[in-house]
Amino acid sequence: MIDRSGAEVTIIGAGISGLLIARHLIDQGTPVTLVGPEDKRQQTLCSWRNIRAPEHYQKHIIGTWNSWQFRVDNTNIIHQADEYWYEALNGLSFKTSLEAYLLEQRGFTRVRELAETQRKSNDVFQIDTASGSFTSTNLLDSRPPQFKERTLIQQFYGITIHHDQVHKIAKHPILMDFNIPQINHNGVVFIYIIPLTQESVLVEATLFGTSTVEESILRNLTQNWINDNCNSGSKNEPPIFEEKGIIPMGPVSFVHFGKPAGVAAGSARQSSGYALQGLERQIKRHEKSNDLNALSKSPYSKLSSWMDDVFLEVIRRNPTFGENIFRVMAKSLKGDEFAAFMADDFTIQDSLKIVRALPKLPFLRALVSR
Ligand SMILES: Cc1cc2nc3c(=O)[nH]c(=O)nc-3n(C[C@H](O)[C@H](O)[C@H](O)COP(=O)(O)OP(=O)(O)OC[C@H]3O[C@@H](n4cnc5c(N)ncnc54)[C@H](O)[C@@H]3O)c2cc1C
Repeated sequence: MIDRSGAEVTIIGAGISGLLIARHLIDQGTPVTLVGPEDKRQQTLCSWRNIRAPEHYQKHIIGTWNSWQFRVDNTNIIHQADEYWYEALNGLSFKTSLEAYLLEQRGFTRVRELAETQRKSNDVFQIDTASGSFTSTNLLDSRPPQFKERTLIQQFYGITIHHDQVHKIAKHPILMDFNIPQINHNGVVFIYIIPLTQESVLVEATLFGTSTVEESILRNLTQNWINDNCNSGSKNEPPIFEEKGIIPMGPVSFVHFGKPAGVAAGSARQSSGYALQGLERQIKRHEKSNDLNALSKSPYSKLSSWMDDVFLEVIRRNPTFGENIFRVMAKSLKGDEFAAFMADDFTIQDSLKIVRALPKLPFLRALVSR
């Protein structure tokens, strides 16, 4: 048995949540052991930020935009915002630099192996890896959680390509382009487009559904969109990178020992799957309370959780109706109102505006069925 009894908190999973929580705890003076292979997945991490919020991740920002677009029914709906911008981070460079920072800190131990088994006896956790075992008084686990039965799935497959004239494809992020053939599946699909640089663009097919589909289906949808919308030169070049993921849109089950962290602790917003801002809130709450439980509690307001819950129930009952809901929301809200909703920074009055704009019958049915 390896003696790492000095470790105050062990974190399983070195994804963005494990790394950010490790940095926060280390900066506070808590010894941390981080267990898990280095996470080398490409991730473009986007969030809506209030323009007055401090910039935390300057080195990893790919772009910020104060406008974004939707394409529904062959119509372009453009949102312009004054109070918020949409920010895209290079998740891979962010994770790499967090790893490098942590390695230089006193009190930090890195175990680059999978956690195999864990158990708890006499209030101490034992964690086993292929090369040995160690104990810890506190255990946070950020491994991907199981989805609850009614939880919708967000599945996506993105391809980043080189293109000489990205501004002709997307001047700003196109959050949802519904002008693609819907697949024969219990869900709704759309294309998400981010102009990463003047010469590269991320195109991502995204499914909101009740179950996953073969990865190749989403990859083909992405490739078809590229073929239809980009000039022939870029079609034949190999992609710069590809990224993919499956994120819960709804509650998750924690199946391990210790306390959940990150997506496993509900950091992903139910209606969008965006998780970074939720994680930042959990960390802020821990900073104030110094209670590890703050990292495991839902970071979202009761109002947004309730709205997300009803909204997802409508989509779950009738996935094809999703396009209609997004169209109504995109058309009836101003840029700042939409961004405030997405950033969970809205009031009851704002929510009434959203509710007034949405078609009533499916929402009433969803409410009654709850
Ligand atoms: C491609 C992609 C794009 C995304 N885009 C956005 C976005 O734009 N905005 C946003 O807010 N969110 C986005 N998300 C959602 C969310 O921010 C990410 O899912 C984020 O990765 C969540 O981080 P996490 O650390 O909680 O979980 P994960 O990223 O799932 O990390 C879990 C870690 O656990 C490790 N692990 C698994 N099993 C073991 C084991 N036995 N032992 C040790 N380690 C283990 C894995 O290797 C992984 O590194 C995106 C997700 C993906 C995948």
